[in-house]
Amino acid sequence: MNYISFLRKFMKKGACPFCDPERDFVITENNYAYITPARAPYMKDHLLVIPKRHITDLGKLRKNEKNCLFDLIVSGMNVLRKKYPAVEVDYKEGDMKISKKSVPHLHFHLIPKRKWSNPNETSLRKFLSEEDLVSEAKKISRLW
Ligand SMILES: [Zn+2]
Repeated sequence: MNYISFLRKFMKKGACPFCDPERDFVITENNYAYITPARAPYMKDHLLVIPKRHITDLGKLRKNEKNCLFDLIVSGMNVLRKKYPAVEVDYKEGDMKISKKSVPHLHFHLIPKRKWSNPNETSLRKFLSEEDLVSEAKKISRLW
């Protein structure tokens, strides 16, 4: 079974793959969150940090859930940093298709990083002048 078929099967039953996980899938947990290996990993040792309550957006987390989630993010990163030089924390929110999010239950990806696939990638990124940066900050601040 591939990942998409797996997800369709779950969603058809109205179930969420992150609510009530198999105990054997849980690497570690605290009162409000747990860590599990990614079922469809981007790379080896890709982990997910997931709140136990079904929540879709960060803004819906309660204070104690935020603390527990953040503790596990840090804990997972510390473990991965023993083996990898860097770790990326990835989070997606909003429209499922646009964000390329496959499970609606809030979760953070902890993705080990080795080295850039293209060492020149950093130099190819657009770099804003101070003037453009100020302009961007002003534009975005209007959203608050
Ligand atoms: Zn869920």
